[in-house]
Amino acid sequence: MTDVIRDVPSLRMLQGMWRRAGETVGLVPTMGALHAGHMALVAAAREECARVVVTIFVNPTQFGANEDLDAYPDTFDADLDLLREAGADVVFTPMRDAMYPPGFSTTVKVGGLTDMLCGQTRPGHFDGVTQVVTKLFNLGQADRAYFGQKDWQQLAVVRQMARDLNFPIEVVGIPTVRAEDGLALSSRNGYLTAEEREIAPGMYKILRNAAARVAMGHGASGVCYAAARDVLGLGFKTIDYLECRDANSLEIVETPAPGTARIFVAAKLGGARLIDNVPVG
Ligand code: AMP
Repeated sequence: MTDVIRDVPSLRMLQGMWRRAGETVGLVPTMGALHAGHMALVAAAREECARVVVTIFVNPTQFGANEDLDAYPDTFDADLDLLREAGADVVFTPMRDAMYPPGFSTTVKVGGLTDMLCGQTRPGHFDGVTQVVTKLFNLGQADRAYFGQKDWQQLAVVRQMARDLNFPIEVVGIPTVRAEDGLALSSRNGYLTAEEREIAPGMYKILRNAAARVAMGHGASGVCYAAARDVLGLGFKTIDYLECRDANSLEIVETPAPGTARIFVAAKLGGARLIDNVPVG
């Protein structure tokens, strides 16, 4: 059975019972509009933990002033069906006020890793992410928390935070789930028109080719410049970044050792901002 919980005390009570029974708990934070990418996280948690808590909360503090907070898709009934089918124990879906009551004033900031990539184009975004994830880690009292590699920088930032602040939680990264044509699944793909949806997978193909060229020893900056030009050629409107960076430090690299780097992209196609990343070698 899947319980829907909207308030903090009820979640705490359940967690307490599970803990006393010695059951491991897996936490899957999401913003809803669930697809197979989210469900891969839930499946991994289901396999590895006695109890699975999925949170659905569109966190306002990680959206910038001109971003899509108000337009963010809400498909709660369908989400709940998927989570029931997947055997989640609890769906925690708090009201905004329950998470940020009047007078709330604490922020959590990870330095370094948040200065680049999406940290530059979405100022304050990762502060909102670490703020809400800290709260969910404390509320969820989980043993493991599951995040997608599609949001590689987010995964790196959350790992760093868990390490720095001694959260007794293992942060698990799950590979990106893609549509058959290669497009990384995302709740924001719904913003694409039919025509844009045809164009979108081309970005992944360009990324993979670029990664292969860097793996062969071509300098990453030149390869990424050409790849960015090709992405624009597909019909993308703008590119926030297309860069080869170390997979852990996220520093720019020019000729990485095999398996140590990834190519990261964020680009706008119509009304959607799409992000993706692929390994080099
Ligand atoms: P979101 O609801 O977009 O905040 O995503 C919730 C979690 O699902 C995050 O950890 C994402 O990285 C992960 N996720 C989203 N899309 C995918 C995907 N295509 N493959 C794997 N994980 C994903």
